[in-house]
Amino acid sequence: MPRRCWRGGHGWRGLGCGQRLTAPRQAIYQALSGAQGHLSADEIFLRVRGRMPGIGLATVYRNLELLRTGGHIRSVDAGDGKARYELHQAAGGPGHHHHLICRQCGQVIDYMDFEKDELALVKKLETQLSGKYKYQIAEHDITFYGTCPNCAKRD
Ligand SMILES: [Zn+2]
Ligand SMILES: [Zn+2]
Ligand SMILES: [Zn+2]
Repeated sequence: MPRRCWRGGHGWRGLGCGQRLTAPRQAIYQALSGAQGHLSADEIFLRVRGRMPGIGLATVYRNLELLRTGGHIRSVDAGDGKARYELHQAAGGPGHHHHLICRQCGQVIDYMDFEKDELALVKKLETQLSGKYKYQIAEHDITFYGTCPNCAKRD
């Protein structure tokens, strides 16, 4: 049987083409592409279970991990010990964004309205780092941690 890369509307890269897109993985992918923002494993489980009533939480965890190491999804650490997941959006792709995360309440802001020179700076850094470490840099993941205005007010 010929191997085919399954491609979703966005974010699904050629990486891990040898990985079969099993039903749980497809359901997870669909849960994430239908979601606004980021979902915890529990939230993904609830959505996937709607489509696959027999699925267990352990299966969801295992497949999340496979998708993450395959580069298809990303986990975001909101500082509360509960990873949130989102589809991987390659730099330069339509959904690519950076994060601001509040260390106190865990609020995650995805921003795509990059600051002036932000992308140029990242590109320049990548070029310099790849020269220095002889690395072919494929991706980056930029997250700023701090305190959101609401939490700052409460302090
Ligand atoms: Zn970026
Ligand atoms: Zn906050
Ligand atoms: Zn995000």
